[in-house]
Amino acid sequence: MKYPSSLVERAVEQLSSLPGIGRKTALRLALHILANTKDEARALGTSIVDMRENIVYCRCCHNISDTELCAICANPSRDASLVCVVQNVADVMAIENTGQYRGLYHVLGGVISPIDGIGPESLQIDSLLSRIQEEEVKEIILALGTTMEGDTTNFFIHRSLKDLNLDVKISIIARGVAIGDEIEYADELTLGRSILSRTNFEDSFAL
Ligand code: ZN
Repeated sequence: MKYPSSLVERAVEQLSSLPGIGRKTALRLALHILANTKDEARALGTSIVDMRENIVYCRCCHNISDTELCAICANPSRDASLVCVVQNVADVMAIENTGQYRGLYHVLGGVISPIDGIGPESLQIDSLLSRIQEEEVKEIILALGTTMEGDTTNFFIHRSLKDLNLDVKISIIARGVAIGDEIEYADELTLGRSILSRTNFEDSFAL
């Protein structure tokens, strides 16, 4: 495509590097930004740079946060004996949106996937184990995607807890979510229900 300006071309290139944005959409967005005021364009650019430069990860649950300890971990009315283990930050937001869960979270940052070179050491699993050892965690709820990688990760966490002889209840969210679905895409009602009707993890694979 020929662009009337190299500045527009550069913006289109940057915008089209985002997921789900092709060059046509990128051009439409660039022209929309051009039609806005300079202040509006500056606010857009600044918000992206500020987010990228200033965001931190909660030192306890690894959720994204503006402060060292995120608002969920810092909230004294949340049940600190309950920790929901999720794959990523979007999952925390999805579960929070259900309004059904009052415990804390632990964001793994992914799931074990040998084919992609992701082993347990690249995830926040060690920090989960030390959290359970050091804090008053009575139950963890496994809420990973129902994929083979999610299952592998569930088993790995289960085995690690058994190896450490940690007395913590391990639950798994009810599989109202279809196999292969990522939990962040599950609808709020189904997701809320699958947390409330969670089952004992060991019962989920016992014959
Ligand atoms: Zn936190």
